[in-house]
Amino acid sequence: MNRADTPRPRHRFLVTAGPTREPVDAIRFFTNRSSGRMGYSLARACAERGHDVTLITGPVAIKPPVGVEVVFVETALEMCAAVLDRVEEYSGLLMCAAVADYRPAEPHPGKRSKTPGDWILRLVRNPDILLEVDRLGYKGLRLGFAAEFGDPRERGRQKLEEKHLDLLAANDISRDELGMGAIQNAIWLMDRWGGSVAIGPADKGVVAMELVEHLEDAILRLAQDPD
Ligand code: C5P
Repeated sequence: MNRADTPRPRHRFLVTAGPTREPVDAIRFFTNRSSGRMGYSLARACAERGHDVTLITGPVAIKPPVGVEVVFVETALEMCAAVLDRVEEYSGLLMCAAVADYRPAEPHPGKRSKTPGDWILRLVRNPDILLEVDRLGYKGLRLGFAAEFGDPRERGRQKLEEKHLDLLAANDISRDELGMGAIQNAIWLMDRWGGSVAIGPADKGVVAMELVEHLEDAILRLAQDPD
Protein backbone atom coordinates (compact mmCIF):
# COMPACT_ATOMS: atom_id res chain seq x y z
CA MET A 1 0.00 0.00 0.00
CA ASN A 2 1.53 3.36 -0.92
CA ARG A 3 1.11 6.61 1.05
CA ALA A 4 -1.83 7.79 -1.06
CA ASP A 5 -3.84 4.69 -0.10
CA THR A 6 -3.16 4.96 3.65
CA PRO A 7 -6.12 6.51 5.49
CA ARG A 8 -5.05 9.86 6.86
CA PRO A 9 -5.45 10.35 10.63
CA ARG A 10 -8.10 12.91 11.54
CA HIS A 11 -7.00 15.71 13.83
CA ARG A 12 -8.64 18.52 15.76
CA PHE A 13 -7.23 21.95 14.94
CA LEU A 14 -7.77 25.19 16.82
CA VAL A 15 -7.13 28.10 14.45
CA THR A 16 -6.98 31.81 15.35
CA ALA A 17 -7.42 34.49 12.72
CA GLY A 18 -7.82 38.18 12.07
CA PRO A 19 -6.82 41.22 14.08
CA THR A 20 -7.82 42.09 17.62
CA ARG A 21 -9.44 45.37 18.65
CA GLU A 22 -8.14 47.15 21.71
CA PRO A 23 -10.62 49.72 23.05
CA VAL A 24 -9.54 53.29 23.68
CA ASP A 25 -13.03 54.34 24.77
CA ALA A 26 -16.57 53.02 24.14
CA ILE A 27 -16.43 53.78 20.39
CA ARG A 28 -12.74 53.86 19.46
CA PHE A 29 -10.12 51.15 19.22
CA PHE A 30 -6.65 50.21 17.98
CA THR A 31 -6.38 47.45 15.43
CA ASN A 32 -4.19 46.34 12.50
CA ARG A 33 -4.41 45.46 8.81
CA SER A 34 -5.01 41.72 9.18
CA SER A 35 -7.86 40.64 6.86
CA GLY A 36 -8.23 37.18 8.43
CA ARG A 37 -7.73 35.56 5.00
CA MET A 38 -4.74 33.41 5.90
CA GLY A 39 -6.37 32.01 9.05
CA TYR A 40 -9.73 31.49 7.34
CA SER A 41 -8.00 29.75 4.40
CA LEU A 42 -6.13 27.53 6.80
CA ALA A 43 -9.32 26.65 8.70
CA ARG A 44 -11.03 25.84 5.40
CA ALA A 45 -8.08 23.74 4.15
CA CYS A 46 -7.99 21.74 7.42
CA ALA A 47 -11.76 21.10 7.20
CA GLU A 48 -11.50 20.09 3.53
CA ARG A 49 -8.89 17.50 4.46
CA GLY A 50 -11.33 15.98 6.94
CA HIS A 51 -10.08 17.49 10.19
CA ASP A 52 -12.30 18.98 12.93
CA VAL A 53 -11.73 22.71 13.16
CA THR A 54 -12.60 25.48 15.57
CA LEU A 55 -11.83 29.01 14.40
CA ILE A 56 -11.37 31.78 16.97
CA THR A 57 -11.63 35.01 15.07
CA GLY A 58 -11.22 38.71 15.61
CA PRO A 59 -13.49 41.08 13.64
CA VAL A 60 -13.07 40.64 9.86
CA ALA A 61 -15.14 41.30 6.73
CA ILE A 62 -15.09 37.77 5.31
CA LYS A 63 -17.39 34.81 5.90
CA PRO A 64 -16.23 31.85 7.99
CA PRO A 65 -15.74 28.59 6.10
CA VAL A 66 -18.57 26.05 6.11
CA GLY A 67 -18.20 23.09 8.45
CA VAL A 68 -16.07 24.94 10.98
CA GLU A 69 -17.07 25.88 14.53
CA VAL A 70 -16.58 29.63 14.99
CA VAL A 71 -15.92 31.66 18.14
CA PHE A 72 -16.03 35.45 17.74
CA VAL A 73 -13.82 37.62 19.94
CA GLU A 74 -12.66 41.23 19.89
CA THR A 75 -9.74 41.87 22.21
CA ALA A 76 -6.44 40.06 22.73
CA LEU A 77 -7.52 39.22 26.28
CA GLU A 78 -10.71 37.62 24.97
CA MET A 79 -8.76 35.68 22.34
CA CYS A 80 -6.30 34.52 24.96
CA ALA A 81 -9.10 33.28 27.26
CA ALA A 82 -10.89 31.56 24.34
CA VAL A 83 -7.68 29.71 23.37
CA LEU A 84 -6.67 28.72 26.91
CA ASP A 85 -10.19 27.47 27.70
CA ARG A 86 -10.19 24.85 24.95
CA VAL A 87 -6.69 24.27 23.55
CA GLU A 88 -6.12 21.02 25.47
CA GLU A 89 -8.90 19.39 23.43
CA TYR A 90 -7.02 19.92 20.15
CA SER A 91 -4.11 18.14 18.47
CA GLY A 92 -2.85 21.39 16.97
CA LEU A 93 -2.97 25.14 17.65
CA LEU A 94 -2.52 27.29 14.55
CA MET A 95 -1.96 30.88 15.67
CA CYS A 96 -2.60 32.96 12.56
CA ALA A 97 -4.19 35.89 14.37
CA ALA A 98 -2.43 39.25 14.37
CA VAL A 99 -2.83 39.73 18.11
CA ALA A 100 -2.22 43.27 19.38
CA ASP A 101 0.89 43.34 21.54
CA TYR A 102 -0.40 46.34 23.53
CA ARG A 103 -3.75 47.69 24.76
CA PRO A 104 -4.72 51.04 26.28
CA ALA A 105 -4.14 50.79 30.03
CA GLU A 106 -7.37 52.50 31.02
CA PRO A 107 -10.03 52.57 28.30
CA HIS A 108 -12.16 55.67 28.86
CA PRO A 109 -15.69 54.78 30.01
CA GLY A 110 -18.21 56.14 27.48
CA LYS A 111 -17.06 58.47 24.66
CA ARG A 112 -14.12 60.68 25.52
CA SER A 113 -14.87 64.28 24.54
CA LYS A 114 -12.40 66.66 22.90
CA THR A 115 -10.38 68.87 25.23
CA PRO A 116 -8.03 71.71 24.21
CA GLY A 117 -4.83 69.83 25.10
CA ASP A 118 -3.27 66.58 23.90
CA TRP A 119 -4.53 63.18 24.94
CA ILE A 120 -1.70 61.00 26.14
CA LEU A 121 -2.44 57.31 26.21
CA ARG A 122 -0.53 54.68 28.14
CA LEU A 123 -0.36 51.24 26.54
CA VAL A 124 0.26 48.04 28.49
CA ARG A 125 1.44 44.68 27.20
CA ASN A 126 -1.07 42.04 26.23
CA PRO A 127 -0.26 38.45 27.14
CA ASP A 128 1.54 36.47 24.46
CA ILE A 129 -0.98 33.71 23.78
CA LEU A 130 1.61 31.22 22.52
CA LEU A 131 3.70 31.71 25.66
CA GLU A 132 0.62 31.27 27.85
CA VAL A 133 -0.18 28.02 26.03
CA ASP A 134 3.41 26.90 26.58
CA ARG A 135 3.05 27.69 30.28
CA LEU A 136 -0.02 25.39 30.36
CA GLY A 137 2.27 22.55 29.27
CA TYR A 138 0.27 22.00 26.06
CA LYS A 139 1.55 18.92 24.23
CA GLY A 140 -0.09 19.39 20.82
CA LEU A 141 1.44 20.86 17.68
CA ARG A 142 2.04 24.61 17.73
CA LEU A 143 2.26 26.71 14.58
CA GLY A 144 3.02 30.41 14.78
CA PHE A 145 3.30 33.11 12.15
CA ALA A 146 5.91 35.84 11.97
CA ALA A 147 5.32 38.91 9.86
CA GLU A 148 8.61 40.73 9.34
CA PHE A 149 9.88 43.56 7.17
CA GLY A 150 12.51 42.10 4.82
CA ASP A 151 13.93 38.55 4.84
CA PRO A 152 12.05 36.93 7.73
CA ARG A 153 14.16 33.79 8.12
CA GLU A 154 16.59 34.82 10.83
CA ARG A 155 13.97 36.49 13.03
CA GLY A 156 11.58 33.63 12.24
CA ARG A 157 13.99 30.98 13.51
CA GLN A 158 14.53 33.07 16.65
CA LYS A 159 10.74 33.31 17.23
CA LEU A 160 10.31 29.58 16.71
CA GLU A 161 12.81 28.98 19.52
CA GLU A 162 11.64 31.76 21.85
CA LYS A 163 8.00 30.65 21.66
CA HIS A 164 8.84 26.90 21.74
CA LEU A 165 6.98 26.33 18.46
CA ASP A 166 7.01 23.22 16.29
CA LEU A 167 6.45 25.17 13.09
CA LEU A 168 6.73 28.80 12.15
CA ALA A 169 5.45 30.41 8.96
CA ALA A 170 7.51 33.54 8.35
CA ASN A 171 6.61 36.13 5.77
CA ASP A 172 7.95 39.42 4.47
CA ILE A 173 5.30 42.11 4.91
CA SER A 174 7.29 44.90 3.24
CA ARG A 175 5.69 43.89 -0.10
CA ASP A 176 2.11 45.20 -0.45
CA GLU A 177 1.00 42.37 -2.77
CA LEU A 178 1.95 39.64 -0.28
CA GLY A 179 1.09 38.84 3.30
CA MET A 180 -0.92 40.93 5.72
CA GLY A 181 -4.18 42.20 4.20
CA ALA A 182 -3.25 40.85 0.70
CA ILE A 183 -4.82 38.07 -1.42
CA GLN A 184 -1.54 36.21 -1.89
CA ASN A 185 1.13 35.05 0.47
CA ALA A 186 4.65 33.65 0.32
CA ILE A 187 6.04 32.00 3.42
CA TRP A 188 9.10 30.26 4.70
CA LEU A 189 7.88 27.34 6.78
CA MET A 190 10.48 26.43 9.40
CA ASP A 191 10.31 23.48 11.73
CA ARG A 192 11.75 22.57 15.12
CA TRP A 193 13.98 19.93 13.51
CA GLY A 194 15.93 22.58 11.57
CA GLY A 195 14.14 22.18 8.23
CA SER A 196 12.64 24.97 6.15
CA VAL A 197 10.65 25.11 2.94
CA ALA A 198 9.34 27.97 0.78
CA ILE A 199 5.60 27.97 0.01
CA GLY A 200 4.16 30.38 -2.60
CA PRO A 201 3.85 33.09 -3.73
CA ALA A 202 0.30 31.90 -4.35
CA ASP A 203 -3.26 32.63 -3.28
CA LYS A 204 -3.66 32.12 0.45
CA GLY A 205 -5.98 29.14 -0.21
CA VAL A 206 -3.22 27.38 -2.15
CA VAL A 207 -0.60 28.21 0.49
CA ALA A 208 -3.00 26.89 3.16
CA MET A 209 -3.53 23.54 1.40
CA GLU A 210 0.22 22.98 1.19
CA LEU A 211 0.66 24.09 4.79
CA VAL A 212 -1.89 21.54 6.05
CA GLU A 213 0.09 18.67 4.51
CA HIS A 214 3.14 19.86 6.44
CA LEU A 215 1.05 20.07 9.62
CA GLU A 216 -0.11 16.49 9.22
CA ASP A 217 3.48 15.31 8.70
CA ALA A 218 4.68 17.34 11.69
CA ILE A 219 2.03 15.82 13.98
CA LEU A 220 3.21 12.34 12.99
CA ARG A 221 6.82 13.32 13.51
CA LEU A 222 6.07 14.89 16.90
CA ALA A 223 4.44 11.66 18.05
CA GLN A 224 7.59 9.73 17.08
CA ASP A 225 10.10 12.33 18.28
CA PRO A 226 8.52 14.50 21.02
CA ASP A 227 11.88 15.92 22.31
O1 C5P B 1 6.12 38.09 18.29
P1 C5P B 1 5.12 38.16 17.18
O2 C5P B 1 3.89 38.95 17.51
O3 C5P B 1 5.70 38.56 15.85
O4 C5P B 1 4.68 36.63 16.97
C1 C5P B 1 3.70 36.29 16.07
C2 C5P B 1 3.07 34.99 16.50
O5 C5P B 1 2.70 35.03 17.87
C3 C5P B 1 1.77 34.73 15.74
O6 C5P B 1 1.61 33.34 15.61
C4 C5P B 1 0.73 35.34 16.68
O7 C5P B 1 -0.55 34.78 16.47
C5 C5P B 1 1.30 35.01 18.04
N1 C5P B 1 0.99 36.02 19.09
C6 C5P B 1 0.44 35.57 20.28
N2 C5P B 1 0.14 36.49 21.26
C7 C5P B 1 0.42 37.80 21.08
C8 C5P B 1 1.02 38.25 19.89
C9 C5P B 1 1.29 37.32 18.90
O8 C5P B 1 0.20 34.37 20.43
N3 C5P B 1 0.12 38.65 22.05
